[in-house]
Amino acid sequence: MTIAIKKAKRISELPPYLFTEIDRRKRQALARGVDLIDLGVGDPDIPTPAPIVEKLVEGASRPVNHRYPSSIGMIAYRQAVSDWYQSRFGVKLDPEKEVVSLIGSKEGIANMAAAFVDPGDLVLVASPCYPVYHIGTIFNGGRNYFLPLTKENLFLPDLDAIPHEVARQAKMLWINYPNNPTAAVAEKEFFTRVVEFAHRHNIIVCHDAAYTEMGFDGFRPMSFLQVDGAREVGIEFHSLSKTFNMTGWRVGMAVGNQDLVSGLAQVKSNVDSGIFQAVQEAAIEALRLGDKIVEPSRRVYQERRDILVDGLRAAGLDCEKPRATFYVWVSVPKGLTSAEFTTRLLDLTGVVITPGNGFGEPGEGYVRFTLCVDKRRLKEVADRIQRIKI
Ligand SMILES: *Cc1c(COP(=O)(O)O)cnc(C)c1O
Repeated sequence: MTIAIKKAKRISELPPYLFTEIDRRKRQALARGVDLIDLGVGDPDIPTPAPIVEKLVEGASRPVNHRYPSSIGMIAYRQAVSDWYQSRFGVKLDPEKEVVSLIGSKEGIANMAAAFVDPGDLVLVASPCYPVYHIGTIFNGGRNYFLPLTKENLFLPDLDAIPHEVARQAKMLWINYPNNPTAAVAEKEFFTRVVEFAHRHNIIVCHDAAYTEMGFDGFRPMSFLQVDGAREVGIEFHSLSKTFNMTGWRVGMAVGNQDLVSGLAQVKSNVDSGIFQAVQEAAIEALRLGDKIVEPSRRVYQERRDILVDGLRAAGLDCEKPRATFYVWVSVPKGLTSAEFTTRLLDLTGVVITPGNGFGEPGEGYVRFTLCVDKRRLKEVADRIQRIKI
């Protein structure tokens, strides 16, 4: 007989998984033989560029790479990150003190709270958002205070609306631009206000910059660290996943304030042993090639964006053309909730999307489409939606 197994509170008290119902309907539709088109997950369908794969193959056969890596990352990798930040953003980073490698940025995001959030500490989280920010808080006994992102505030948190008592107590703030799931972008003026706010209230700023390379129509999103004073308050999480179509490789970085970087590195040194060095060598090649290999996928996503947005608008849906990210954030037709519209679309068209409230309550009233299928399928999505009565 098994013993009585009781999960820890941090697991059993997690908010319920909102996608269970969609998963169930997806399985039903597949069983009926429906030709599903999945625009639910943000995972590039484009293969990793060949020069990066070749470096991995080369590196995999070298015995020096078969041993434990360090959790902070090879100095050559951290140097490559520093060089890339310099050439891409004009931001100078000390590779020894201001860069740490991550096993995908998700790992660092989750570990950040372990380094800086004590039980009871308050963390500000712009929402809807990538769930790992607030899950990290919960895993470490902290409390989340959500800052709603709305159409009225251009999906940028209204810092002036934060009650003084909340700002006074807050330990940390999570923001993410270009944003998943809203596809909103931030300009220098917003980041400057964030830095002022953080200085005024002594708050650590965590900026998730996963989508800076996915800008369209010539738009080049900026790094938070380009703003004066950002390095005194903040850390930026970045990743090769979306930029170089490398989600499966698990390689990213956190850069910025050296005390924040070293705190995160200290947690990591106790829980992981870093990234396979051959993967780091391939990542160095990716960063070295930079825009040469990013530009082709940027063009692919831009074309897909135009096809999907034009098609959704022709179907009578309300959405903006995103300036960055591979997401399209769409208002739900009047009279329906996000979940109702999502299931309706799945049942009537076989198109899978994500209800906006799955990313947090302020996302209610929206759904998220991804651009991670080819343009022929996106045309098919638009056709199918145009044929039904929304
Ligand atoms: C995809 C994504 C990540 C995680 O990327 P990895 O580096 O693959 O872990 C982090 N933040 C946001 C907003 C994302 O969409």
